Amino acid sequence: MPVTTSSPLSQRLQRMSESATIKMAQKARDLRAQGHNVISLSLGEPDFDTPQHIKDAAMKALQAGYTKYTPVPGLVELREAIVNKFKRDNELEFDISQIVVSNGAKQSIANISLALLDDGDEVVILAPYWVSYFEIVKMAGGVPVMVTAGIEDDFKVSAEQVEAAITDKTKFILFSSPCNPTGSVYEKDELEAIANVVAKHENLYIVSDEIYEYINFTGNHVSIGAFENVKDRTVTVNGFSKGFAMTGWRLGYIGAPKWIAAACSKIQGQFTSGATAFGQMAAAHALNSSLEPTYHMNEAFKKRRAIVTDLLGKIPGVKVNNPQGAFYVFPDISHFFGKSDGTTTINNSSEFCEYVLEKAHVAVVAGSAFGADKCFRISYAASEEELREAISRIGEALSNLK
Ligand code: PMP
Ligand code: GLU
Repeated sequence: MPVTTSSPLSQRLQRMSESATIKMAQKARDLRAQGHNVISLSLGEPDFDTPQHIKDAAMKALQAGYTKYTPVPGLVELREAIVNKFKRDNELEFDISQIVVSNGAKQSIANISLALLDDGDEVVILAPYWVSYFEIVKMAGGVPVMVTAGIEDDFKVSAEQVEAAITDKTKFILFSSPCNPTGSVYEKDELEAIANVVAKHENLYIVSDEIYEYINFTGNHVSIGAFENVKDRTVTVNGFSKGFAMTGWRLGYIGAPKWIAAACSKIQGQFTSGATAFGQMAAAHALNSSLEPTYHMNEAFKKRRAIVTDLLGKIPGVKVNNPQGAFYVFPDISHFFGKSDGTTTINNSSEFCEYVLEKAHVAVVAGSAFGADKCFRISYAASEEELREAISRIGEALSNLK
């Protein structure tokens, strides 16, 4: 959208792009509503329902009268459960005053950006990155600065690259591990090297998005905030959407230095207030209960990853990564650029995804939305049957490109 001063819409809004993941998912829904047999592998959403014991806890809380406003940073019951979870799973020590619960991790990231960024402040974003990072940072007045890794580096940016991108305007670095969209998992030594770079720069912070923590096939999740030299400068973001299949509950949280937590709470107090009361009680129950259902989902995702990487790898011209976490594969499809089926020529990842949607009726998301135009994202949070069918259709459509 061209930015104009004649539009009644703010320039801030005009500069912002719509979420590509949400847009593609809606496109798939619309096509389905028109009667097309579309398989949507576009949205990063577990296809599992929320485990029953969590739903029961919500119903119990509702009956018990958890129907009122909550404290802005969250109910004490949930914040205590989060403090214990950080200790149990992440070697992170927080006081309850350092926890802020929000309406999804998306809001947590928006709170942090609004709390820390002045106009022109830079944020080093490790790319490929999750779509919304870029837009949230821009909306808060910040300048996103991308550092990128390709498939040959397992999409992982090195500490040296991060260091080279830091200027005296850099406020924080932002990334997810396990990563959306690549599924890559940063290992302990890689995170330690990044922590060492950050530690050298006074007034530089880390925002570590660990929302896919529990969907990790290495069996080893490391929180960068656990390194002593950055523990007072790291905001750890997490949430319930992925690991507990609770996307529609809208619950995310941070563990942060006290002053950042207080700032996020101040912002949230003016925008949305505390998250839904009975949902928070159920979320506390989720964290305090056995993680068995989460482990089962993880097993299912692992099996699907094997199917998807195997089948995609058999399609000539598709270069597949071997993701260690999350539920995405991020193949490099630059081989098809410049190729045509006689009527349509593919020049970039958007055109590739349009072609796949139109010819194969499979919705996937263009890598350009994640800062990697050579790739596309496939979300394998779908049934094995759907995945096999989708990839077979994609293979057939691509075989027509010469
Ligand atoms: N971070 C990442 C990397 C994500 O993929 C998502 C997906 N929605 C979010 C944050 C936001 O999650 P939610 O708002 O549902 O908690
Ligand atoms: N995070 C998911 C995704 O990347 C959900 C959609 C969204 O919030 O953007 O697809």
